[in-house]
Amino acid sequence: MSAIFQNYARYPLTFVKGEGARLTEADGRTFLDFGCGISVVNLGHCHPHVTQAIQKQAETLIHTSNLYHNPIQEQLADRLSRCGFGGDLFFCNSGAEANEAALKIARIYGNKKYEGKRNRVITLQNSFHGRTYMTLSATGQEKVKKGFEPTMDCFVHIKQNDFGEFLSEVKKGDVAAVMLELIQGEGGLELISRDFLVEVSEYCAKYDILLILDEIQTGFGRTGDIFAYKHFGITPDIITMAKGIANGIPMGAVMARREVAEYLSAGTHGSTFGGGYLACAAAMAVLDVMTERGFMQDVREKGDYFIGKLNEIFYQTEVTVHGTALMSGIKVPGKQKEFIEKCMNNNLIVIPAGNDVIRIYPPLTVTYEELDEGLALIKKSAAEMGIGE
Ligand SMILES: *Cc1c(COP(=O)(O)O)cnc(C)c1O
Repeated sequence: MSAIFQNYARYPLTFVKGEGARLTEADGRTFLDFGCGISVVNLGHCHPHVTQAIQKQAETLIHTSNLYHNPIQEQLADRLSRCGFGGDLFFCNSGAEANEAALKIARIYGNKKYEGKRNRVITLQNSFHGRTYMTLSATGQEKVKKGFEPTMDCFVHIKQNDFGEFLSEVKKGDVAAVMLELIQGEGGLELISRDFLVEVSEYCAKYDILLILDEIQTGFGRTGDIFAYKHFGITPDIITMAKGIANGIPMGAVMARREVAEYLSAGTHGSTFGGGYLACAAAMAVLDVMTERGFMQDVREKGDYFIGKLNEIFYQTEVTVHGTALMSGIKVPGKQKEFIEKCMNNNLIVIPAGNDVIRIYPPLTVTYEELDEGLALIKKSAAEMGIGE
């Protein structure tokens, strides 16, 4: 056994090379990767434009800290701001750090603007927001908190899509923010209802409660837009992002309305590595590709095709199809582990979510031939389990 913590249950696979939608195992087998890490390598492995940007930046400048101006960080902020709702950006290194920062903003906003009277945050049952103390406390899934109690007591987890429960919490008058995932990634591809989101958004705007959207998994193309909130016709106060932002180079970010972001004044928050040159160069290259004309349209079309075919494969079986665009998956009650292992034996990588769901996340750059190949492997794996016979 190596000198590594035993905090991960790893699959018995060791990848040594990646290209596009393909991974090569140490034993020489090639896999079709419909996981992209966990929706991180959304442009496929070693995307040439991103690799080139990383190489070029690595030869020029990698780190100076946030003691000094950083032009590429400023350019990236401007571009992300334009892709979103025109807010200001803070950069860190992971999803948990992005949520941590967003929740600190909510706390200081409630404390300063409402004399300490607003300090609670509403999140959803079954949500996932990260593994730091603040973010595991925000997380609705009990298994993430287990053994780490006492957690922070400023969170309440309401039922998804239950506006009545939302109202009874906010009416207590001490709520600073609500933090939501639009599609629960870790929670098993549960899509939020548009009506609920619109009602919450309108209430928040009216009573100055901050609406924070955790777009760490939904962001960067998986739903067919840079940010998933664009599909819902609402505007949040804060969004958090990470995973796909730099195609595998660690980075997290928070976008907040300027009047909200201003509450994190000089010296109140920071990150040594956050927004460094290398990660920013990678993120700029990701945006170059994702904002190309027609790119997201193509993702939506491929997603529709793929989900349509999944529905055909599993028509009138115990398996149901979930998700949107290329944030897709299937629910296989009681057979999640077995199905994933079957797929792996057939050289296809997919990833678990919740207890019964399998996330199928092809790279956004996947070809129709690769989608068909993956569909054939999914069908084969299902048949080997006696599903769809
Ligand atoms: C992955 C994820 C996080 C945590 O991100 P890390 O980079 O692992 O800290 C938080 N929220 C959501 C929705 C995620 O998918």
